[in-house]
Amino acid sequence: MPTITIHRGTRTIGGSSVEILSGQHRILIDLGSPLMQSGGGEIDPERLENPSVANKILPDIQGLYKDDIPGFDAVFISHSHMDHCGLLNHIHRDIPVYLSAGSLELMRIGQVFYPRSSRVYLDTFRVFEHWQPMKVGPFCVTSYLMDHSGYDASAFLVESENKKIFYTGDFRGHGRKERLLKRLIEHPIQGMNCLLMEGTTLGGQHQAGFANETEVEKGFCHIFKAQEDASFVAAAGSNVDRLVSLYKACRSAGKTLVLDLYTFYLLDRLKEITPGLPPFKGDHIRIFYIKGHAQRIADHLGQDVLYRYRSRKIELDEIATGRCDMVIKLPVHAMTRIARRMIESAPLTRVKLIYAMWQGYLEKETAYSDFCSEFNAELVHIHVSGHAWLDDLKKLAIALNPETLVPIHTLNAKRFNTLFSNVFQAQDGVPFDI
Ligand SMILES: [Zn+2]
Repeated sequence: MPTITIHRGTRTIGGSSVEILSGQHRILIDLGSPLMQSGGGEIDPERLENPSVANKILPDIQGLYKDDIPGFDAVFISHSHMDHCGLLNHIHRDIPVYLSAGSLELMRIGQVFYPRSSRVYLDTFRVFEHWQPMKVGPFCVTSYLMDHSGYDASAFLVESENKKIFYTGDFRGHGRKERLLKRLIEHPIQGMNCLLMEGTTLGGQHQAGFANETEVEKGFCHIFKAQEDASFVAAAGSNVDRLVSLYKACRSAGKTLVLDLYTFYLLDRLKEITPGLPPFKGDHIRIFYIKGHAQRIADHLGQDVLYRYRSRKIELDEIATGRCDMVIKLPVHAMTRIARRMIESAPLTRVKLIYAMWQGYLEKETAYSDFCSEFNAELVHIHVSGHAWLDDLKKLAIALNPETLVPIHTLNAKRFNTLFSNVFQAQDGVPFDI
């Protein structure tokens, strides 16, 4: 029978890593950087910068790392968030790593724009198609495209020795692809032996905010329609659902959306995978060139990319002149520069800084509150979690009806006992049979 070892994730959010053993063969799902100590608490940043088995940032897994004899048939990555893939650079180059086309593209983009510590890229990457079973040794692995704040995220069905294991990865049912979860619930996989299900929102911090991504879009739109001056937005470029909400809200409100080169390039690239994504010819996106971004594009991708985008380029003066019609989503240093130029001609009028990311980041980063103080801007929080609400967790658990349900990616594994049936509390690093 297959044996599962959750190397990290039974008592923490982030840094998930799951091994499945069948006979002499092993596969690994996810190898993420931890976001916190097991059970919560901060990790010393120095440890994160120099990951090793000795300092416990790399999970102690034999046959996985560069200086070991390779002992895995494959590694599967659910999505490109660092807490699921951030330690990939350490694995042995003879072990193939499978991921979705979207995850791979985001990692390629990261090579150009991200700081060195956040870059993950391997020659051994192999792209899979969602819903297409892959044979790897005795395993049959099928990716299920999931709704998540991370683009092109997968859950995995792993079949071996007549057993079925389903690893949800990170998922939700209230984003722009909510139909994916509905489909999984309405047409569940039968005969499920083991469900490894995330429970991120069962903690406190993820519960605040809006109910779903549609409400987020409405929240944006409401503000943009009423704006008396420019609106400023802080949002993660890699949260593609959020960028689409922003894009659509600007279109409904008749505003120009000002993006940086990184965000525009990201959308432009992902459009090849998801043609329905912006940009569209003649639309309302303009690009503010930040020197560092332009330099990276010129160095890594060539000047012709900049040349291709030139018709959308917007200068500081044009933003300042047309400020009432501008929604500006840029790094905070660039927004500060623009706001300073604006106040040279007239004070800002009831201006808002919309913070469209997880509240937890705001507590660590003072740049946004500094912006609000300097320009007397109102900070408005518009956000919804990238992770499933309890209601959807319950629906999925009932639909898949597993013999065993194992909590993962949660700070509240114990709550699973009262919320779900057939719960088994695994321990990090301790194998259990299916
Ligand atoms: Zn994620």
